[in-house]
Parts: sequence; structure tokens; C-alpha cells
Amino acid sequence: MRPSRLDPLFAPATVLPGVGPRVGALVARVVGSDGEEALVRDVLFHLPSGLVDRRHRPPLYEMPPSGPVTVEGMVERIEKPRGADSPWRIVLSDGNATIQIVYFKAQPDWLKKLFPLGKRLVVSGDVEWFDMRPQIRHPDYVLPVERAEEMPALEPVYRMTAGLSPKVLRRAIMAGLERLPELPEWLSSDLLAQRGWPAFTTALNDVHRPASPQSFGPSGLAWQRLAFDELVASQLALAIVRGSVSRGRGTAWKAAGKLREKIEAALPFELTVSQRQALAEIAGDLAGERRMLRLLQGDVGSGKTIVALIAMAGVVEAGGQAALMAPTELLARQHFATIAPLAEAAGIVPVLLTGGDRAAGRGETLARIADGTAKIVVGTHALFQAGVEFHRLGLAVVDEQHRFGVHQRLALSSKGMAPDTLVMTATPIPRTLVLSYFGDMEISRLTEKPAGRQSIDTRASPLGRIDEVIAHLGKAIDAGGKAYWVCPLVGESEKTDLAAAEERFADLSARFGARVGLVHGRMKPAEKDAVMEKFRAGDVVILVSTTVIEVGVDVPDATIIVIEHAERFGLAQLHQLRGRVGRGKDRSSCLLLYRAPLGETAKARLEIMRQTEDGFRIAEEDLRLRGEGDLLGTRQSGMPGFRIALPEVHGELLEVARDEAKLALTRDPDFKSERAEALRLLLYLFGRDEAVRLMRAG
Ligand code: ADP
Ligand code: MG
Repeated sequence: MRPSRLDPLFAPATVLPGVGPRVGALVARVVGSDGEEALVRDVLFHLPSGLVDRRHRPPLYEMPPSGPVTVEGMVERIEKPRGADSPWRIVLSDGNATIQIVYFKAQPDWLKKLFPLGKRLVVSGDVEWFDMRPQIRHPDYVLPVERAEEMPALEPVYRMTAGLSPKVLRRAIMAGLERLPELPEWLSSDLLAQRGWPAFTTALNDVHRPASPQSFGPSGLAWQRLAFDELVASQLALAIVRGSVSRGRGTAWKAAGKLREKIEAALPFELTVSQRQALAEIAGDLAGERRMLRLLQGDVGSGKTIVALIAMAGVVEAGGQAALMAPTELLARQHFATIAPLAEAAGIVPVLLTGGDRAAGRGETLARIADGTAKIVVGTHALFQAGVEFHRLGLAVVDEQHRFGVHQRLALSSKGMAPDTLVMTATPIPRTLVLSYFGDMEISRLTEKPAGRQSIDTRASPLGRIDEVIAHLGKAIDAGGKAYWVCPLVGESEKTDLAAAEERFADLSARFGARVGLVHGRMKPAEKDAVMEKFRAGDVVILVSTTVIEVGVDVPDATIIVIEHAERFGLAQLHQLRGRVGRGKDRSSCLLLYRAPLGETAKARLEIMRQTEDGFRIAEEDLRLRGEGDLLGTRQSGMPGFRIALPEVHGELLEVARDEAKLALTRDPDFKSERAEALRLLLYLFGRDEAVRLMRAG
């Protein structure tokens, strides 16, 4: 149960003055309460995006060329519009000079009331010059001098949405601040003293009512404090969840490496240094008693699959079973195709379990998984939702590709299985972000590309030149090349994507005949496999697709990729797509076809793609262009991100927050102290109450 002292903050935002049902819906949109009703707390956590300094009060004869000003003067006269398109003009005078206040389309009565002749007023807004005279168009504030203090000298501005007035939002925030209850301190006093941070409620007041431009913004002490609170809440929640999840000890899987030797002998290449390094780290974890939770990060094409296979072979050798889960069926099949011959070289016969299997074969596969004769199981993430029983599952490898999520892991643990877990991802998530979502998950990195890879020649070209592109493509395939042709996301639905891909397929088929293939998300797995197989074998040399090939598809001798309407894809996606080529020894190329004219962001994205193939650099730029949420794919998966802490500004605080959370848990593992009572409030405030429940249960 949520402590009742938090009730004022958990009331719906509609209790705030000026926020009715209609405005409430707009507020919910802008404060990002994820489609749910906005609460007073959400309104307060909507922090300013900027600051208007209204303290600049130049005399009227010294108006700057532009920018925010506050002026004082007497209403000298009101001039009616001279024509349909011209504005009302109010002339203010301070005795020496005048300024004009300008309104387009104003109601005369309203104006006359706001600007009584002869009255001294304070007016604030952006000054501009017109016809050699200064003017303020549609000022933000018009107040009689005696009420001038109603205008904030430093006014925060907020991210808005259409239809919501800044004044209404501001008033709601101010009223929300009035509702802040007294709260006990949950941070340690040493830390507060050392950092100079204010108390939580003071900090909230300070961010919305800044005392100076210097103290304002994410790097100010008030914002830092709140960001830190948010980080501590997430770290504490993670520590609690993790504690309750991995309570059961893991099994120590010790293998001499016989199976690994056989697999390596069957490989047509040598493992890279970082593959060996990652395998050593994994083997260390597997051999230990503590449950493994490790992230294997490696750019597309860096060779994660083989690492997964060797890790699984280790567990098999030690007497357990291993599972590899892929995000899509196509990928599960592909992993299976890659793995099967190598595993068989080591005497292991892997099984494939997908949703599309026939009932009969499926029953037999399930039985073999249950009695332990199937040692390696490859499937989709659904493997664990489908009620599959394992005999002795020792290792679960979760291939997240670029959709980096935590859900499967939790799903696994909730089934009472506690296998060692290896999550593979191509997203080069910065370490700070990994920490923020997973707590102390270990990380292995594949930092080099397999030997002999060449860089990919990346170009951008407007769609208007598509005929030239197709002519080029013709030459390339005549010379023995293979190409992907990726069709754009057209609209919201898969249907429209498909239409575009089918159209392009018809187009290219008309020219190149049966050598053109098509894959898309709506095909049956067997149909998809058949086309992919033809592409692999070379019967199909141009593979038109929707974005289904985005993740993981591996055809090393495909050396060309054309991405149509590249401007519609995000950076991470473009990078993933491009990673389909450049996998073999021949030089590859990537052509980004775009519709002109390009917007600023799209232009920046394509430029970055041309400049670099470095996944980390691309991820950083992506972060900069889009924000953290998108990079992690949290929007789709619904994992709540941070609202206050910003990775670029507060990343440094993350480790400190981790220590603070750890300290709290070691000092008071049962969560019985006064301090723990306060931390409980913190968890509620930041929506981490699932952890509170676990605290109770444990
Ligand atoms: P990803 O990390 O994107 O999942 P894959 O595991 O699909 O990468 O590997 C990409 C390609 O590189 C595959 O064709 C694989 O056989 C090959 N490969 C993996 N490791 C090496 C290596 N050490 N040397 C050469 N090629 C390798
Ligand atoms: Mg892969």
C-alpha cells in the first residue's frame, strides 16, 4: 500500500486549478504519463526545457535589436488596424521614447480593457524592430505596475503540446508545488553535504522557480538532486529485483573444452581475439556458483553466434541443456542452420522449436527437450512462454539483436528456472546505460571485426536517379554480385510496407526476371526460408524485402544493399541494415536512396552513415539525434525510461547512485529502519513499486 502522505502527489492532475478533463488530456500528453491519466506527480516531474529571463529592463530609448525585454510605460494611444492585414498598435511612452505593442486580430474591447489610456503598465515579451521602430508583438505579460510582481523575473518554459497554453500548465505546476507534502530525507547526509544538494521538495521548487540562470537547468544542483533520486530509485529497485531473482544459486558448469575443440576444428576460420576473450569470461561465469548474467555486445557481423554456440557446448559437455532464443522465426531458423553442422561436428544434435511447427513433430521435439536428449534448443523468444519443459536447462542465450530488452529474462526467472543467461545485442549501449537498466550485469565485448573484412562503400543518392541505380545493379549482378533491396516503411501498417515492396519486386522482376526474389513479414516461415535459400544458393540474386532482413540475416557473399527511402529509417536501423553486407572477403557497397529535399535530421543521419561504420559512434550520434528512449527501443517495449536524469549530463551520477543503493541495502537488508521507510517513499515516487512488493515478499 502506498503511504498516505504521498496521496496529494498521486491525485489526478485534474485536481489542479485550470485542469479539467479536456486540459487534463493535453497535460497527460505533454507530461508523458504513457497514455494513462496524468497525476500531480507527473506534472511536477515535467521539468522546464528553457528559461526566459525577464529581468532585462532597458529604457525605451535603448531597445536592443531583439530578445526578451520588460518595459514600463504609459498608454499614450491605441491605433486601429489600417487594413485587413494590419495590426492593432498600442503606443507606450516613458516620457523620452515610445514602443509599440502590436496585436494581430484582437478584440477591441479586450484591448481597451488591457490598455487603459494614461495607465502605467509593465509589458514583457520579445522586442523586434519594424519601420525603424521597436515593437513587441503579442507580449507574454501586460500588467499594471502595481501588480508587476505577478510576472516571474525568471520564467521556465516547458515542452508543450498544441492546444495547451503555457500559462495554464505553469499555473498547474505552481499549484502542484503547493501540494508537496513534508517528506523525510532518503539520501545519506554525507552525500548531501558533499554535493551541496537541497532536499527533494526544495529541489522541485527550485527547478520550477529558479533563483538565477546559473543555477537553472540539468547541471544545476536542484536538477542534479532530482536526477540522482531517480537513479537511486532505479538502482535500488534493480538491486531488490535482482536479489530476489537470483537468490537460488546457479549451477557450476565445468567443461574441459573437448566439444569446443571439435567445433573450432570444424570452423573455416580462426576465432578473433575478442571472441576468445569473451569465451574465457563466459566460461569463468559458467564454472562459478553464482548465476551468470552477461551481456555480449558486438556490432553486426562481429561473430556473436559462434560465441553463443561454444558457450552452449560448454554447458552440454558439463551435463546440461542450452537454449538459444531469437527475436524472429526467420532468425531462429537461420541460427539453427548456422549452428547445426558445427554442433553436429561435436556430436550434438540441436533441435529447432518454433510456433510454426506441425503438431506431430512438435510433440516429439517437446518430449526430447523434457527428457534431456535434446541438448541444444533453438527457438524464438516464445520458447519460454509456450510452457516448454526442460530436463536441465543450464544456459539461456537471448539474442536481442538491436531490440535490447529485459522481459525475457524476467519471464524466464518467473518460471522458476534460473539458468545462466547470456544476452546478445548489437546495440553498442554505453556502459552507463547498461548499468541503469540492469544494475550489475557483466559485459563482454566483441571489439574487432573478423579478419579480412573490408569497409563498405556507402553513398547517398536521390530517388530521382533510381534508373541509373538499377542500370548499375544490372551490371553488378551480371558480374556475379548479389544484392539486397530494402523497401521503406511507408505508413503505420505492414500492409502498406508490403505494397511498396511488391511494387518494387514487380518492377525489378520485369527487368531481371526470375533472379529477383521477395521476402516480407507476412510470408509463412517455410516460404521465407525457401526464398532465403535461393538467395543463399544464388538462384535469386536480387532480394527485395521489407525490413524483415533487418536483423541478423547472414549471406556472406551478398555485397550490395540498396535502401530505398533511407530518410525514413533511424540511424540504428540503417546501421543494422548495412551490416547485412561486408560480411565476406569482397568489397561491399551500400546505397542510400532518399527523397529530396532532406530534413535536417535525415541529412545528418545519412551523413553519419557515409562517414563511419563504427557502431559505437553511430549509437552515440543516434543518442544525440533521438534521445535515449529510442535507442533502447523502450518506446516499443514499454519499459519506462527516465524522465529527469539525462545520460549526457547525469551519467556520472549513476555509479554513485549504485553505491548509495547498495549501501542502503547492506546497512539494512530487511528494510526496517526509518531510512528504509523513506526509501520506500522514493520508490513509489518514481514508480518503482514493483520492487516494494518484492521487499515485502522477501
Ligand atoms: P553477428 O555478431 O552479427 O551475429 P554472426 O555471428 O552472424 O555475427 O557472424 C557474421 C559472419 O562472420 C558469419 O558469416 C560468421 O560465420 C562469420 N565469422 C564469425 N566469426 C568469425 C571469425 N573469427 N573469422 C571469420 N569469420 C567469422
Ligand atoms: Mg547474429
